[in-house]
Amino acid sequence: MTVSCFLYTLFLMMTPTESDSATRFMARELPYAYGALAPHVSEETMRYHHDKHYVGYVNKLNELLLDTPFEGQPLEDILLSADGALYNNAAQVWNHELFFEQLSPQPVRTPSPELQAAIDRDFGSLDNLKAQMNRAAAGLFGSGWVWLASDKEGRLSILSEPNAGNPLRKGLIPLLGLDVWEHAYYIDYRNRRADGVAALWNVIDWQCVSDRYAHR
Ligand code: MN
Repeated sequence: MTVSCFLYTLFLMMTPTESDSATRFMARELPYAYGALAPHVSEETMRYHHDKHYVGYVNKLNELLLDTPFEGQPLEDILLSADGALYNNAAQVWNHELFFEQLSPQPVRTPSPELQAAIDRDFGSLDNLKAQMNRAAAGLFGSGWVWLASDKEGRLSILSEPNAGNPLRKGLIPLLGLDVWEHAYYIDYRNRRADGVAALWNVIDWQCVSDRYAHR
């Protein structure tokens, strides 16, 4: 499977109709089958997460962009500059692109030597990094994301962001995002967010995360 793990820009599709022509974002397909991540993430969760939640954000973003100065701009520019509902939907589209892309039914389970060295330097070990992200996920009140991010120099940090919060807004490069919205785990794990996050580690592809680090 060849999945680009460092090109974040969504495809724009020109959709001319009889009455007008609009530039719209297209939802991407999952890079694996809906049921491929089971038993860690069920097919039903992936169908709801991708087809309902993620596609819903794409549709809402396209609707909100109409007749605004952001229409036709790259997703990253919208994410960096917009506010309110436009920001929320643009960021959620971007966040889910990154989230789905970093999961794999055949994940590489160890970081690249370069990323491993940075993890050891900044967190002591991969297990410590996971433990800190698990604690951040458990402690995040309400909906949001727990991120592993890097600065340009390669220093790593963990960010706990409410709602659609994205590290790019703080000048940091997202490497790995844990979606802790209830829609990400409630079908499979009900109220047990920690179990949902623990299951995710089984399908995180460290090759993908390492690619993002290498191309930061
Ligand atoms: Mn989600």
